[in-house]
Amino acid sequence: MSYEDGPSMFQDQLAEKVRPFIDLIDDMRSIGIDKELPLPTIAVVGDQSSGKSSVLETLSGVALPRGTGIVTRCPLLLKLCNDRSVRWKAVISYGGKFSSDFDEPSEVVRHVEQAQNTLAGKGVGICEDLITLQITSSTVCDLSLIDLPGITRVAVKGQPDDIGAQINNLITKYIKNKRTIILVVVPCNVDIATTEALKMAQEVDPEGTRTLAILTKPDLIDPGAEKNVLEIVHNRVIVLNMGYVIVKCRGQKQIDENMSIARAIEDELEFFQNHEHFRSLLRQEKATTKCLATKLSNALVKQIKKYLPQMSEKIKEQLADVKIALSKIECGPPLEPAEKRKYLIQVITEFNEQITQLSTGDIIVEENLFELMRKAFIDWMECLKYAKSNYNDEVQQVVNEYDKEHRGSELPGFSNYRAFQHVVQKLVAKLKDPAMATLEKIREMVQKQFDQLSRESFKNYPYLQKFSTMNIERIQEDQSKIVKERIKEQFEMEMQVYTQDEIFNKYNLEEGETTDNSEHDTRSKYPGLLKSYYEIVVQRLADQVPMLIRYFILKQSAKIVCSEMLDLLHRDNTDDILQEDLEIGHYRAKLQAQADRLLLANDKVSSL
Ligand code: GDP
Ligand code: MG
Repeated sequence: MSYEDGPSMFQDQLAEKVRPFIDLIDDMRSIGIDKELPLPTIAVVGDQSSGKSSVLETLSGVALPRGTGIVTRCPLLLKLCNDRSVRWKAVISYGGKFSSDFDEPSEVVRHVEQAQNTLAGKGVGICEDLITLQITSSTVCDLSLIDLPGITRVAVKGQPDDIGAQINNLITKYIKNKRTIILVVVPCNVDIATTEALKMAQEVDPEGTRTLAILTKPDLIDPGAEKNVLEIVHNRVIVLNMGYVIVKCRGQKQIDENMSIARAIEDELEFFQNHEHFRSLLRQEKATTKCLATKLSNALVKQIKKYLPQMSEKIKEQLADVKIALSKIECGPPLEPAEKRKYLIQVITEFNEQITQLSTGDIIVEENLFELMRKAFIDWMECLKYAKSNYNDEVQQVVNEYDKEHRGSELPGFSNYRAFQHVVQKLVAKLKDPAMATLEKIREMVQKQFDQLSRESFKNYPYLQKFSTMNIERIQEDQSKIVKERIKEQFEMEMQVYTQDEIFNKYNLEEGETTDNSEHDTRSKYPGLLKSYYEIVVQRLADQVPMLIRYFILKQSAKIVCSEMLDLLHRDNTDDILQEDLEIGHYRAKLQAQADRLLLANDKVSSL
């Protein structure tokens, strides 16, 4: 109803010189530069029913939601793009993710209302989230404007008491930005000096350098008041550097009668041409929506040009940031099969080198593995020492018991040796659990660091990551089984009390010769003998257990992990193996797109 095919009144006037600037701003908004650097925009402010929507409708050629009360409940960015090849096309987007396009002008109202209901909730509340409505058509001018909720003083039923303050805050947020052109909409038939909209504009722009006022409803002026209005339009009452434009839009009756916007524009021109007082304003380019459109475009371009150097700097900064972010996520695998294989070899080789270096202590992953192992082995040593210090008591106890039971009843030599062996076995057996615990501890450390390396090396490649961590786990399991077996064997061997140690054998022999067969001496001889034999066992275990663990859990594991990784090279599913993590791919694509846009914006800025 509000859209008509055919050439618009505006399409001819906004030449190529305007479009690039407005495009640039829209580009920058889509890149997100406006978060750090407020972009030049036009914000429309006015009291309720002052005619904001009517003006925007005439500018855009599209019917917007209208009615009494607060109709605009969220800021609405109206992006108008002139494209001679497009009949009419609209895209509405909001909430950061939702976006929908349609090609029926009459659907604008429904879409905007739906967006407002989603963002601000059904009812009469308002919301600060921006709705973007982009309209591309052969009949619109190139302009971007933000429609804001109308200023209101009193809350109506269902509205929060502070609705007025909420709206004022929202409007202020937009208009206090020095780059915003404030478009104040004021009806001719009220006392303009007292309108809230103009007051708000004056607060943030006291000099009036970026405020443009639109006087609406000239057809409703009380006869006789025209002179006052002319005084205002001629900038003699409230001085605004950007001045005033007077426009006439469709009145309620014309809307009810379905007058098209195109017709309304003709009607407007006729109105001024035939107006006794306002006719002169046409020549002075202070009347009609067409004149307003030109003024706005020019003002916006001027504003954009003014802030171009700043924007250019910001673009360069962002570009540098994006490039750094891109360099951090690497470039991903090459597409060409032969190159891809080479890349796989390189990725695996690098990982293998790191695992090997980890196993030799040449690199440190998070914590120093060798330092950690050393601590665990010291604990093991401490455990041995502690056991040793307690053994004196235990040995004494066993010997005492033995003496009590066997005093004079057995051949001392034979039984004494059995007793000695019994004591040794009992003491040594107690060390097995701590030895196994040490193994578990080290295994955990090593596996953690191997896994860490795998996560880092293959962070973009889920297949490689899964493959390597699964292998690491299995290899660690196998290796610790081997170590457990060896430790078990070692302890079994220790059950055969044995040493080649010369000092011990000499001591044993001498002591045996001088004190043999003396019951009194049995007590003094065995503790000493046991102690020195135990020293030997401790020394053996103190070295043997860590050596086994280091060799199998670290060195051998690393070797096996490497060789299993190399097995991957014999497979023919390189594509699957190098399948990138989806999120990384998306993230890189996003950054790349952002970099492209920034580069483009940079080119545009430099060429403007
Ligand atoms: P908003 O609340 O500021 O968006 O105001 P609207 O654009 O919805 O306009 C409020 C009322 O004023 C509507 O009924 C319009 O038809 C009417 N209106 C707007 N501009 C003019 C105009 O130039 N002349 C006449 N007669 N009515 C107008
Ligand atoms: Mg409105």
